[in-house]
Amino acid sequence: MTEPIRVRFAPSPTGFLHVGGVRTAMFDWLFARHNGGTFILRIEDTDITRKVEGAVEYLMEGLKWLGLDWDEGPDMGGDYGPYYQSQRLDLYKQAAERLVEQGDAYCCYCASERLDAMRKEQVARKQPPGYDRLCRNLSLQERAAKEAAGIKPVVRFKVPTEGQTSFHDIIYGDVVFENSNIDDFVMLKSDGYPTYHLANVVDDHAMKISHVIRGEEWISSVPRHLFIYKALGYQPPLYVHHPLLVGPDRAKLSKRHGDVSLLEYRDQGYLPETMFNFIALIGWSLDDKTELMTRRQLIDTFSLERIGKTGAIFNREKLDWMNGVYIRSLAIDDLTQRALPFLDKGLPESVKRPLNAGYVKQVMPLIQERAKKLTEIPELVKFFFIEELNYDPALLIAKNMTREATLKALEVSLQRMKQLSSFDEGALETLLRPLAEELGLKAGQLFSVLRTAVTGETATPPLFQTMVVLGKDRCLKRIDEAIAELKKLSS
Ligand code: GLU
Repeated sequence: MTEPIRVRFAPSPTGFLHVGGVRTAMFDWLFARHNGGTFILRIEDTDITRKVEGAVEYLMEGLKWLGLDWDEGPDMGGDYGPYYQSQRLDLYKQAAERLVEQGDAYCCYCASERLDAMRKEQVARKQPPGYDRLCRNLSLQERAAKEAAGIKPVVRFKVPTEGQTSFHDIIYGDVVFENSNIDDFVMLKSDGYPTYHLANVVDDHAMKISHVIRGEEWISSVPRHLFIYKALGYQPPLYVHHPLLVGPDRAKLSKRHGDVSLLEYRDQGYLPETMFNFIALIGWSLDDKTELMTRRQLIDTFSLERIGKTGAIFNREKLDWMNGVYIRSLAIDDLTQRALPFLDKGLPESVKRPLNAGYVKQVMPLIQERAKKLTEIPELVKFFFIEELNYDPALLIAKNMTREATLKALEVSLQRMKQLSSFDEGALETLLRPLAEELGLKAGQLFSVLRTAVTGETATPPLFQTMVVLGKDRCLKRIDEAIAELKKLSS
């Protein structure tokens, strides 16, 4: 019988959740959901010096925003908790003591000054830095003397000095390490806190993790973990390391390429659907060509084997394109709800709050085709909301027109529009096209004059629809104001 699939995302709360980390969580989650397995969130918070206040809450908020829900974790418990490593210190201590008793580990009393000096010397001699194993062979008396002197030891693993350690990685294949290149690493620090290696192994075993999925930077830790598994008599999990994210220039992903925290993407107006689709398809693909995939399709088709060994390229242009696609696919009610907080934040203060959601809903279809990010919406729709348009009246004069012809076009339009009994697209069309001809203008010229007059801008959504949403009163008022401004403009 095969073991149930249990995977964990095990972030250290040392900063923000970046796209690279999210990608690990996403592979874990997709693998669990595809196989009906369990996705666990475990917080690896044993490095107290690097802990950042609020990081756990922030990362949970990010995972929730993307819809990466966990089945066991710090906030909800589970059969294998607690899910904060800082609450599991006894377990690590017991494991370390057992390894010392078995002779697989030993107490090291070396002072940090000695270790620092040793490291400097090794670097100067161009040797790889590592512990020289001084305490590995202390006699009983020597050890007793150190203890009597009150020195608090660390616990180091007794790494075999020869031979090789290998493992099979689902993505990288067989990986082999020379044991002689690995030093006697610390498992338990003198303050009783474990290092990453010990805590990771103890917990992956205790939490019955079947597959360890994580970034390739952890490959070199695997032999150390395997030593501990073997010494404790545990079965190691299966390993899946995925390649690091890189920018289009193949350099390690940095802020310049867009490696910012996940929630910054939310605040920049990307949809969670976009981020989910986009991140899942960095370095994973269904068939090397499908770009748009829903959450359901990704769950149904996900397999670890299709994570590429290379090519985890983060392409910001593709992200923007994809966000536009997802924005266009939203139902208007949905787009309205998502746009509201961005409008609230982005529209000028002079616009009365709370915003009228019904009115926002009328405006949304007019810009849905054009917005690539939710943050762009306030600028696109501003003229629908503000009272005073502030623009250069010279803009009113359309191509190949004079100030006088423009004035006349505005005055006649104003008079005729006043008489309209219904102010809808059909009525405006029926009025304004023939009017252009009557005035000796091209339709485009008249529309351009009116567009500037009612919006203060030269590029906007379709004119008649825009005018209908603005409403008759506001359009007439704005045309009236445009006439006054244009009159002030010296001819
Ligand atoms: N705490 C490690 C990290 O921050 C976990 C690595 C692993 O998954 O083993 O990424």
